[in-house]
Amino acid sequence: MESKQLTPSQAAGRRKWVVALTAVKCLIESATKLIFAYFTGSAGLLADAIHSMTDVAGSLVVWVGIRVSNNKYRRFTYGFYKIENLLAMTIGVAILYAAYELALGFVHSKSVMPTNVTTSIMALLLLIAVNFLWGRFEVKTGQLINSPGIEASGKHTFTDLYSSIAVLVGLVGAEFGVNLDKWASLFVAVILIKVGYVIIWDNLKVLLDISLEDEMLREYTAVIQKIPGVVSVKSIRGRNSGSYRLINVEININTFDLASAEEIASNIEKAVKQYDNSIDTVFVHYTKELPSVLKVFIPTELNGDVISEHFGKAQFMTTLTYDKQSMRFYDVKTELNPFMKTEKGRGKQMVEHIKKNSVDSVCTKENLQEKGPGLMLYHHGIDTRITELTSVSELLQDYVGNSRAIFAERGN
Ligand SMILES: [Zn+2]
Repeated sequence: MESKQLTPSQAAGRRKWVVALTAVKCLIESATKLIFAYFTGSAGLLADAIHSMTDVAGSLVVWVGIRVSNNKYRRFTYGFYKIENLLAMTIGVAILYAAYELALGFVHSKSVMPTNVTTSIMALLLLIAVNFLWGRFEVKTGQLINSPGIEASGKHTFTDLYSSIAVLVGLVGAEFGVNLDKWASLFVAVILIKVGYVIIWDNLKVLLDISLEDEMLREYTAVIQKIPGVVSVKSIRGRNSGSYRLINVEININTFDLASAEEIASNIEKAVKQYDNSIDTVFVHYTKELPSVLKVFIPTELNGDVISEHFGKAQFMTTLTYDKQSMRFYDVKTELNPFMKTEKGRGKQMVEHIKKNSVDSVCTKENLQEKGPGLMLYHHGIDTRITELTSVSELLQDYVGNSRAIFAERGN
């Protein structure tokens, strides 16, 4: 995270401006190169001009992507983002075609020795300097507003320097009577083939709904697992759409309460989006599940051997730690119920005691479903169960199997 934070709307505004200015810069650049290509007859300059034109088209596609994502078109469900990928594919094909034409010109040795090159050399030097500074500005802005797209665009501007430098070498060669220019045009053609191939492949992956890389999903999982209330991440899937990512995550949470479940879900969405700002939507599905090792509370009688018929009126309170996997239990503690004699609100006091002791699951013979203490337990997100058995040791042979969660249907 940067120390200089911008608000999301400031960042979005800056992103738009950088994209628009980049498009304008590429437009001026390609026009300049075209004019000089015409006056010098340089095949290399012509090739570089074509390259710059494809960059203009590329900026326009990014622009369309930003417009689509920020306005009412969002209503057209998420498939609409793919227009950006479709446009990008067309550009990829156009780039490959341009490369093919350039290579053909090279093979047929159509290129002539450039003339009147001195001014073109000056102009190209100026363009190279501008692009160097612009590329640096884009990378820095991309990092500041946390936009991988802008950062990538900056790196692209840097790689474009290579083709311009090759063309410059060609022109300097011409100044000394050596025809390096046609080799420069071939070099640019090779770069264009690579650029076109990458664009087509990247966008094809999105159009074919190829899911996100496992490494990326593992990173999101790590972020989600740190959110309070999340017990475990059951599954995670993700895919690209346009320049956006959509994530589907299934989690286990430790609460029955709908409001807190919604809060956990929205915290997950916020955290994941903050981690990767190309994520547009996070679909969170949650289910309530007991942790693998849980703290159990049972109201008991007879020194903790028998499950009490009552909740608040029970003589003893038994707490223990239970391992779901091995069905073993330990740390059994039985104590006299201090609230037993209380006239009013003993159930409520018992729930508070349970809450204070971080109990995960409560098991009773009394059905608490429609009762005050039951609703309080539900509200605190504490698993509440009922059993027909009387013996504590029998119940603990298979705690989950020998009891039934009374709020399970309301958990999700
Ligand atoms: Zn380029």
